[in-house]
This record gives sequence, C-alpha cells and structure tokens, in this order.
Amino acid sequence: MHQYKRSSELFTEANKYIPGGVNSPVRAFKSVGGTPVFIKKAKGSILTDVDGNEYIDYISSWGPMILGHAYPKVIDAIKAKVEDSTSFGAPTELEIEIAKLIVDMVPNINKVRMVNSGTEACMSAIRVARGYTGRNKFIKFEGCYHGHADSFLIKAGSGASTFGVPNSPGVTPGTANDTLTAKYNNIEDVKQLAAENKGEIAAVIVEAIAGNMGCVLPKKGFLEDLRELCDKEGILLIFDEVMSGFRLGKGGAQEYFGVKADLVTFGKVIGGGMPVGAYAGPDEIMKVVSPVGPVYQAGTLSGNPIAMIAGLTLLKELNENPHYFTELADKTEYLHKGLDKVLSESGFAYKINRCGSMISVFFTDIDVIDFETAATANNDKFPKFFHEMLKRGIYLPPSSFESYFLSNSLTYEMLDKTIQAAKDSLEAMK
Ligand code: PLP
Repeated sequence: MHQYKRSSELFTEANKYIPGGVNSPVRAFKSVGGTPVFIKKAKGSILTDVDGNEYIDYISSWGPMILGHAYPKVIDAIKAKVEDSTSFGAPTELEIEIAKLIVDMVPNINKVRMVNSGTEACMSAIRVARGYTGRNKFIKFEGCYHGHADSFLIKAGSGASTFGVPNSPGVTPGTANDTLTAKYNNIEDVKQLAAENKGEIAAVIVEAIAGNMGCVLPKKGFLEDLRELCDKEGILLIFDEVMSGFRLGKGGAQEYFGVKADLVTFGKVIGGGMPVGAYAGPDEIMKVVSPVGPVYQAGTLSGNPIAMIAGLTLLKELNENPHYFTELADKTEYLHKGLDKVLSESGFAYKINRCGSMISVFFTDIDVIDFETAATANNDKFPKFFHEMLKRGIYLPPSSFESYFLSNSLTYEMLDKTIQAAKDSLEAMK
C-alpha cells in the first residue's frame, strides 16, 4: 500500500503560499478528492513521488511527454544549450530551424509565431482573425478548452443563444458578448449563430478532436461542414491543436481528417516539456501580425533558446521516426481493448472514446458526443476508479473531463499491468 506522508506534508505547506497549493487547478485533485501526489522525478513512463512511490504515467505532463519523461536526446540538447545563456530577447538561428520544421510538418501553413503557452497561442490566433476580418465575434464550442484568456471563459447563456455569460468572475459581460457558444458536433447550432450574427463573426475555434471534456471525436462530416460554412460566411476556421498537434501524426488534425484550417494553434508537444505555444497560418493571414502588420503580439521570452531546443529536438525525433505515431496508436488501441474487456466484465456502465493516442473512459451508458453527454459521466464512479488505480500505481488524469495521454515509452508489460489494475479496481468498487 502506498504511503503519502511527505505529499500530505507538502500539500499543507504549499497551501500556505500558493492558492490551493497548486499552480494549475486540476492538480489539486478537487474533482476526485484526496491529497495530490507531489512528484519528485520521472523517467520514461514512470513517475516517482516524494514518498518514493512509483506510478505508470497516463498524463505525460498533459501531453508534451509523448516519447516519455527525460527523453535522453531532449535532456542532452537542453544541457548543451543552457551553457550559452538562458535568454537573449534577440533573434537566434534556432528559431528559424524550428519554424522551418513546423512548416514542413504541418499542412497549409507557411508562417509560425512562437509564444509561451497554449493559452497565448489561442488568444493571439483570435486577435489575428479579428484583425484580418475586421469582425469582433467568434464561435467556440461548449466543453472545448482554449486556455484561460478572458474571451474563452464563457459559457452559453440560457435563453437567447447569441449572448454568452462569463463562467469566471473577473471576465466582463462586454467580453462575453463577443464569444458565441455552440454545441460540439452540432453544425445546426453553428449555422444558427452564423445567421443571427451575419457579417460579425471573425472565427470559429474548435478542438478538431476535443480532449477537454474527455476525448470526444468529431462526427463524420462535422469538420467538413464547419469548413464549408466558414468559407461561405468569410469566417476563419481555427483548429486548436494544442493537444492533437504532433500527437495524432506529423500534420495533426488537418492531416488526420483531411480538413484545412485557416489558422492552427499549438502547445504541449511543440515545447518538449518547456513552456511553449505557437500559432501558424498562411502568409495571406499571418501578414497582419506585428511587425509586418498592425495586429500586435509580443513576448519577452518568446522563442526562448532552451524552450526552442527542447521543442526542436522532440519534433525532429518525431519527424524522422513517424513510426512512433503508429506505435503509440497501436499501444493505445491495445489499452482500449483491454479496458473494454475488463469494463464489460465489471457490469459498470461505460463508454470509451479514442482517437489515435487520445483515449477516455466515461462511466455512463450514453454515447459521449458533446459536453452534455460527457457530463453524464461526471459521477461518483470516476473518483473511486481514480483512487483505486492510484493505489495500484496507475496515475490517471484526476478529472472525468480529461483524456489520458499515453507516451511511446509505455511498454506492453506496463499496459498489461494497467489493464489488470483496472480489473482489480473495478472489483474493489463493487
Ligand atoms: N487548448 C487546448 C486544446 C488545451 O488542451 C489547452 C490546455 O490544456 C490549452 C489550449 C491551453 O494551453 P496552456 O495550458 O499551455 O495555456
């Protein structure tokens, strides 16, 4: 049985100095209860906490660690680079190298701007879309997450579908007025918003595969219909590929689904575990970005050399070894089949959604196709399953609304161990 003595002490101490003891809310275990585990180090797919417990990691730092923790080439590259100083605030050759590689790997883009997080990438892409189209409003989908910028923290208002409502204090009603919210996988909703706000919508931003209400796949034709509608209405289609980018494959969701986006945003894998994001598009749109165009966007640490070398090394590795993507998808499919078997034997209601290496288990009997259906799985089963798995050395995302992120450092032995742990956990939950 795992002991969490030191983690408990640290959580008490952390709460004295850090809001809720954490620097990002989901880490606090609020939706599963209990005390968060404090991590000391990680290698490959194994996390070690401050009490010396080991876990098989299904978070992969929420995505970046696609080839595993402390990947030797990335660590060596960082070590070598850090000797040359940690930041210049002036251009470097490295920034050209990573931009060139991204443009090579991702379809339909020829300019990339590096920023420091996925939030910044999405926030900036919206600004660019507004600057380019001269329009103010944009459409997002309920259950999709694009970071914590004000204009994304909006939920659909009840009644008049055209007015959004802030879902965090500190976001003004004025901001909310410009964010329209549609149901994921519901093109009719989007069409209605477009009709009610004709000529006013700059962009539709979408997680082409949603990962922030658990993993939810686009229905057949949904992305194509969005593309068609955007073309008809002069709206820019933004794919938020912060999760899916460099995970589904080299070219992300655009390549995977064969649907072109006008702007794409990245985060997570692109920084190899360092704080990085990026937005990208064709010259025609990106020419509005400062200093070429009037849309201002900047960053003291943007293109930071340590972050760039980490990202570049990881992306190069993926670009040169595309079989990693297939191997990872195969491993995820293996996990999917194993979990499917033990869950069906357990008698619990469940659904599993998977796309490539993104996978979620939902404790519900309803097909999960949008936020409303995902919310049916937000019940007491998931916290129990989470803690039973944690006890057995399996570290799952601590929320029923998060996807698992697998890394290619997982071995089939680890996957078998995970499936067995799931079987035992489900048994213990009865
Ligand atoms: N977009 C998506 C799809 C995300 O999953 C996230 C974070 O999880 C973000 C944007 C925000 O990225 P960051 O946390 O790096 O600001």
